[in-house]
Amino acid sequence: METMTQKRNIAVLGSTGSIGRQTLDIIAEYPQLFNAWLLVARSSADLLIQQARQLRPHMVIIADEQYYDYVRDALEDTGIEVATGSAAIAQAVTMPEIDTVVTAMVGYSGLESTIAAIRTNKRIALANKETLVVAGELIDRLLQDSKSVLYPVDSEHGAFYQCLVGERMEDVDKLWLTASGGPFRTMPKEQLSNVTAADALKHPNWSMGAKITIDSATMMNKGFEMIEARWLFGVMPDDIEIVVHPQSIIHSMVAFKDGSVKAQLGLPDMHLPIRYALGLPDRRLASDCRKMTIEDMASLTFERPDFDKFPLLGTAYEAARTGGTAPCVMNAANEIAVAAFLQDKIKFTDIHQIIEKTMEKVPHIDNPGYEDYVESNNAARAIAEELITKSKN
Ligand code: MG
Repeated sequence: METMTQKRNIAVLGSTGSIGRQTLDIIAEYPQLFNAWLLVARSSADLLIQQARQLRPHMVIIADEQYYDYVRDALEDTGIEVATGSAAIAQAVTMPEIDTVVTAMVGYSGLESTIAAIRTNKRIALANKETLVVAGELIDRLLQDSKSVLYPVDSEHGAFYQCLVGERMEDVDKLWLTASGGPFRTMPKEQLSNVTAADALKHPNWSMGAKITIDSATMMNKGFEMIEARWLFGVMPDDIEIVVHPQSIIHSMVAFKDGSVKAQLGLPDMHLPIRYALGLPDRRLASDCRKMTIEDMASLTFERPDFDKFPLLGTAYEAARTGGTAPCVMNAANEIAVAAFLQDKIKFTDIHQIIEKTMEKVPHIDNPGYEDYVESNNAARAIAEELITKSKN
């Protein structure tokens, strides 16, 4: 195997989540290429301690301050630096030793540190799609003045990236974004109001965190991915078409103006797109992971998404066309509504209602700056919380 001249020091933001843990698997798979330099977790203190003992990073940050003493004491003999708080995260990602930042935290919380990484010209392996949903316009502007590059970790966007290598964007007709359809693809619409959080957490193909699994069940996740693709590849929302492909073997496709279509295939295992993103831009990382067989791709089927049964798809297109702070408000309301659904406070079908009502109430801002996103996010959260409380009474 050829060798990179220098090992890459990697910061993993959200190291105890599903993507974070799988990223650490890849770092451990290629010790000659990668160092875990910084690990950041929100509140999973024990797992963070365990990861730190195993990978010996330079620094760990536990975002939730109530666990700080516990983590610091547990790692005292290791010489690993321990910090806490969200300001520490945005500060730490700018350390000159860090080459690559993997943004795998959940939701809006990823925005500030991603901006800090862009400002300091880091390579970013972007797993936190909400960053581009919330603030795609701002991120797009910041990237123009930065040497920072965003490499997608999301499997669909990794697929677009691979299909677009060697192509000119002018030749692209549209992006075909594949969706598994989630656990309720074949359930009649009338039954959706009775499904529980436990039902929604049974995803047919992918093993993921709770928040994204609910987003998959509502198909909000696919709406987010449409917006993510819009910014990553510089296309308009209506140039992206969602296609339901229940087997999750084709991870997305690009259609060209000459009528040709390129697809990227692989087993539904997040290690694959993470491995690809971490290898960029140099090469693919050889692995003895399970490889695809003829049987795996023997039956691939496709269908149109049901915008009536999954109305958040339409909400996402509408928010993307409106632009400004509309997607930020949609994301904030979704985070609150999903958390309430996971706690059995609202019905599955209420998630859409709460998001739509919140979007009606929060004032719209065009060409937003960072402070506008912060304000809209806070306002949307407060309104969504209020709607949930009211719906209970
Ligand atoms: Mg995805």
